[in-house]
Amino acid sequence: MDINSIARPEIVAMKPYVSARSSAAADGILLNANEAPFPHVDNPTFRRLALNRYPSPQPALLKARVAEMYGVAESNVLVTRGSDEGIDLLTRVFCRPGQDAIVETTPCFGMYRIAATIQDARVIDVPRLAGQDFKIDFNRLEKVIDEQSGVRLVFLTTPNNPTGDLIEREALERVLKACEDKALVVLDEAYIEFCTAKSACELVNEWPQLVVLRTLSKAWAAAGARCGTVIADPAVISLLQRVIAPYPLAATAIDAALQATSGDAIVRQRKFVEAVRQNRTDLQEFLLKCDWIEAIWESKANFILLRVADAGELVEWCADSGIRIRDFSTQAQLEGCVRLTIGSSDELTALKSVLQAFGDRQSA
Ligand code: PMP
Repeated sequence: MDINSIARPEIVAMKPYVSARSSAAADGILLNANEAPFPHVDNPTFRRLALNRYPSPQPALLKARVAEMYGVAESNVLVTRGSDEGIDLLTRVFCRPGQDAIVETTPCFGMYRIAATIQDARVIDVPRLAGQDFKIDFNRLEKVIDEQSGVRLVFLTTPNNPTGDLIEREALERVLKACEDKALVVLDEAYIEFCTAKSACELVNEWPQLVVLRTLSKAWAAAGARCGTVIADPAVISLLQRVIAPYPLAATAIDAALQATSGDAIVRQRKFVEAVRQNRTDLQEFLLKCDWIEAIWESKANFILLRVADAGELVEWCADSGIRIRDFSTQAQLEGCVRLTIGSSDELTALKSVLQAFGDRQSA
């Protein structure tokens, strides 16, 4: 599959910007980037991270770290300012404004649609089947890819936000086949660490139309560092590299990302993931006993979606006790739905007691 043939021709033709740090070594006397020779702030962070200097556009250590974590080659990775930036770059590189389209399967993460709208790309929705636990309508999805012109990106999420369900490997391969020579399948694995399903990262060399998104924001507990990774065929990576800002990651973010993924942090990450799974089971069991809850969807991620008679009332009740939960009730097919993030054990205890009081009041 020729990736360049489905990218925007002007991106393929463009001569990319070459920054000082991407084109020359960063040692010796650095007079090639119009930086200050030393920081004005005399503290250890500024000195250690040389904050007077531009950071590396793709820091070698971090690139090597994420490539190893995700089991792919360095040529398969692009480190980005969160997965949000990966979504944005893919949309800008592959969708011609006013002509091309992305496909999403609502309910799903809202940024796919936003990125497409900003790019003036069409959004084709293949709604999930509400009556079948929000299963993806793969027959309709295949038909859309086959029949609609200009489809360039098909966004799939596993586990899905907010429904928490997984995409089977067989179903993924079916979509990959349908996209051959036409479009990329962007598989967003933001929450994959919270389940036992295997990541599709290693498939990117077998399927050039597959792009996987990973992030340090969820299981790695580093949302504030804003660090995501796009994993794809080197041809896709090199196109994205033409569009990404010259220095996408702040030196502080690079440092934080390296700390979040090394030594003790790895041990803590494993314990955290295990705790989230246990707390998820615990919360699920509690919710099942609440007769005022109309539906609960089994989740493989760090949240649970549920339906109640009046979502607004529940959200307000929780907020009055200082607990913020997410209201999804205005989204299509999600009438009465709220999403609860799995927090710490103490937070879970607090949540359960507030939910219990809500239920008691309902039945009083
Ligand atoms: N993908 C999904 C499915 C998400 O739910 C989120 C954040 N809520 C993101 C991507 C964005 O992640 P990041 O923090 O890496 O930008």
